[in-house]
Amino acid sequence: DETQLTEQLLLNYEPEFEHRYLRRLSIIAELKTALNDRQDELSLFYQPKLDLTSGKVTKVEALIRWNNAILGFVSPEDFINVAEQAGFIGKITDWVINQAIKDAVLLRDSGHDISIAINLSAKDVMDNALLPHILSLMDDSKLDCKALSFEMTESDLVREPEKAIKQLQAFREKGFELAIDDFGTGYSSMSYLKSLPVTTLKVDKSFVLKLDSQQGDQKIVRTVIDLAHSFGLNVVAEGIENQATLQLLHGWGCELAQGFYMCKPLPFNDFIHWHNKHQSTNWLAK
Ligand code: C2E
Ligand code: MG
Ligand code: MG
Ligand code: MG
Repeated sequence: DETQLTEQLLLNYEPEFEHRYLRRLSIIAELKTALNDRQDELSLFYQPKLDLTSGKVTKVEALIRWNNAILGFVSPEDFINVAEQAGFIGKITDWVINQAIKDAVLLRDSGHDISIAINLSAKDVMDNALLPHILSLMDDSKLDCKALSFEMTESDLVREPEKAIKQLQAFREKGFELAIDDFGTGYSSMSYLKSLPVTTLKVDKSFVLKLDSQQGDQKIVRTVIDLAHSFGLNVVAEGIENQATLQLLHGWGCELAQGFYMCKPLPFNDFIHWHNKHQSTNWLAK
């Protein structure tokens, strides 16, 4: 935590460490200000998930973007962890959920049958107030539970497995789909599979990015798909960057595909435009 960091900084002075520490501090300060007074620095991008059975886009993942006046564009990889450790990830999640619900309403009202997946951190999952909050917002907007789903990484949930299972069960009881994100990179994949109440596994992109040329990745991904299916779960592959990879995944029975080959994460309006343009694109045969 912060005290430990300060001690480390004073005991073993290293310019590289100081640089990272100061960047962390300014991320915390700037992000808190953005959440309170400059929310226009934040935006939600959308990346489609292609249903490989129907060839249609039925789902999108919401991915946060932050463009700060001083720090410039900061990647979520660089600020989500920081916000978790500094104790205000809940504020980010609230912002994301509010925005996603507005966009879900726009999708519904424009006749798009597309469900939005939101990334949650472990702290969100453990927060008893989150599910009632989501339900009341969705109720205000008359949204069906099919309009949203949630993704979280397994390693996030390891600390309090029993509570995590209980919390996720409550989401399932309300009808939300749940996915384990970045599957294969955590510690306890196997033991978790039989106890976590989820509907979907997301194969981590590190196994997918070079799938077309890496025999080892092919073995892992085929095994993960079979494993998921034997537990009755759907599989999403993320990080598809070429057609050969998409064809392999389709051949192995993977249900959903996400990656730059089809589409990068886009601002909402750009996503709608992309979607309307690609209604009848056949990504497997193009
Ligand atoms: P994630 O949830 O695993 O999201 C997938 C990441 O892979 C995204 O990075 C996406 O842009 C990237 N990606 C998708 N397809 C490809 C591809 O074909 N090639 C490559 N190279 N990358 C691809 P992004 O948007 O930078 O997000 C990084 C991580 O930050 C996310 O990983 C997620 O863990 C976290 N994150 C993003 N938005 C949120 C949020 O709203 N809340 C929370 N708690 N975490 C978020
Ligand atoms: Mg995700
Ligand atoms: Mg992922
Ligand atoms: Mg990730």
